[in-house]
Order: sequence, then structure tokens, then C-alpha cells
Amino acid sequence: MPSLSVSLNLNGSVGKDGKNQPHDVLAVKNGLADLGFPVTRDSLVNPETIDIIKLFQSIIKGQTIIVGDGRIDLDGPTLKFLQAANAPQWLEMPKGSPAEGFINHDNRQGDNHDFGTSWMIEMIQTAAQLYLNTYLSSHPSAALIQTNDLSKSRGGITSAHITHQTGLSCDIRLPRKDGKSGGIVFSDSQFDRNAMRAMLKAIRNQSKYAIKQILFNDFTLIAEGLCVNAPGHDNHAHIDIIPPPRQ
Ligand SMILES: [Zn+2]
Repeated sequence: MPSLSVSLNLNGSVGKDGKNQPHDVLAVKNGLADLGFPVTRDSLVNPETIDIIKLFQSIIKGQTIIVGDGRIDLDGPTLKFLQAANAPQWLEMPKGSPAEGFINHDNRQGDNHDFGTSWMIEMIQTAAQLYLNTYLSSHPSAALIQTNDLSKSRGGITSAHITHQTGLSCDIRLPRKDGKSGGIVFSDSQFDRNAMRAMLKAIRNQSKYAIKQILFNDFTLIAEGLCVNAPGHDNHAHIDIIPPPRQ
């Protein structure tokens, strides 16, 4: 994805309990808006502004729930990453296609639980290309990688998950032997374990982003070191990524 590296030249802190000089606030909000974060391009610090600064802080800390003090300090890590060549963008997951090796289930359902970091989206796109090359090419009737539930359009708390607040998490629906996905658990005879193995390997082997963890309860794939057990993960795999080093 294109670099959006910017230089903000702030004179004081911006956000919760910050100095909030109008020119600085506008520069920060323009910077966040340029990256796709949902802020208005004005000089006002309101609760929504602070929420989005916290979202950005949580992302660069690699947290999957919202943390952060909501303030951008002149010598702090938030300002540095906001100006980095690989600053996270906030985007909606593309809808995907057979040629890309993945399908966005939220898009098919018409919901908006598919916003996340450019990092996660790029990881999925890269892994899906690898899955296409290493497995789908020789198993053309196998299911595509089917993503479900990144984060809500503004990030933050979602009733569907404990984490998934910061665009660093994504779920994968289970591939079926009929080439479709979802509606089954790992013990179902319809579960296509070979396709799932290839998907998880592609996710682990793509070289762009480090994987923090993959949660999924299939005993066979756990024994192979591809995932770990966690309550509630019989019918999907959950993936978290680690932020890349700042560039
Ligand atoms: Zn999940």
C-alpha cells in the first residue's frame, strides 16, 4: 500500500489534557484523516477525537482492546508512528474474489464489521495469494479464505467479541469439503482440514507481518503447531498480528 508519510511540525501536545493549539489539532486530524481514520478535518478536540487517538495508540502498541492516554506528545511514540512511512491506515477490508484467494464474509452479509489496519488487510491479501499458489492451484474446488469480523467502522468495543477492537484481529470461517465456508465446527465431517492447514500455513508463512497468535480448537492442527486452543474457537480461527517495526 502507498506510503502516506507526513511531517506534522507540532508546537504542542494534542488530545486529552493536551495544549490543543488549533493549528496543531488541525494538523493531527488531517494526518489521521489522510490515513483513513474517521475524524473530521477541523481544530476541535472532542470525545470522538480522543477515541481515535486512543485507537491509533492501541494499534501501534499491538493491543487488541483499546488502551492509551488519548494524547499525542511532542516526543512520544504516537507522533513518531503517525509520521512513519509505514503508519497504519484504517481501511475497510476489500470484498475479495477467487482470483485473490479470499472472500470478505462481512461484505457478503452487508455489515460493517470489516474495518481494520492496512497491516491486517495486507497480511490477509499476501497470505491469500500464497494459499492460491500453494494449494488452490492444485485443489481448485477448495474453499477460499473467508474473513469475518475485523473491527467496527470506528474501532472500539464490539458486542460480538472481547477483542477485535483495534483492527489487528481477524476471524477465518471454516472451509468445507463442498468448497463453501462456515456453519460447521472442526469435528464436523464436512470440515476440510487440508484446506484449513494450507490456509493457516499461508498465514504463518507470509513474510510481511508477524503473527501473534492463531486460536482454533482442531486437535490435529494444534498438534502440528499451527494454532492453539481457546474457548469459543470450535467454528472459526482467530488471528492477531504484531505491529511491524516503525520505518
Ligand atoms: Zn476473533
